[in-house]
Amino acid sequence: MTEQHITKPCTSCGKSYPLEAFVRSKTGRYGRGPKCLECRRAYRKAYKARRGEFVRQQDKAYYEAHREQRAAYQRANRESRRELKRASRARLQGTQSAESERERNRLLALKWHAENPEKSRENALAYRARRASAAGSFTLSEWRALCDFYGNRCLRCGSDGPLTVDHVIPLIRGGSNDISNIQPLCGPCNCAKGAKIIDYR
Ligand SMILES: [Zn+2]
Ligand SMILES: [Zn+2]
Repeated sequence: MTEQHITKPCTSCGKSYPLEAFVRSKTGRYGRGPKCLECRRAYRKAYKARRGEFVRQQDKAYYEAHREQRAAYQRANRESRRELKRASRARLQGTQSAESERERNRLLALKWHAENPEKSRENALAYRARRASAAGSFTLSEWRALCDFYGNRCLRCGSDGPLTVDHVIPLIRGGSNDISNIQPLCGPCNCAKGAKIIDYR
């Protein structure tokens, strides 16, 4: 008997078929699988459907079981994204407004000096006179050391713009011209502080 004439029964439908009607299998009888191709196809289709349904149910069960956990996770994610956005926005606005405030103050001061040349000169003279009559004095190297000590930044706004000598207790209020009464401020911050007594150190 040649292989062509061998038949074997399908374990599913029970009908006998020639070996070509079975897929090859190392372990099956005559080296072929147990079910005829047609039954095999139907079985696999049903299995896949069953398996799919099972997986769907599993997923659903998992989802249900972790609903709270997942919601909390998503909530936390949303919050942290929002927080990041808020922080970067605040940072942006902070630097922008600090810079625009400095610039506005600088322009206002320039405008005032241009519009009030007499008063500007008088103020400068009065300041020089007060400084001359004030107790104490400081040297250029003391001033440089002080600026270095504060990182060469304005003690009020932190800008690294040109620093000016500010008397913590203004000369006009009887403050001394000693280095111990001096703090470095940028021009606009010096103007903004005016004759107030504010120690930014
Ligand atoms: Zn069959
Ligand atoms: Zn400043």
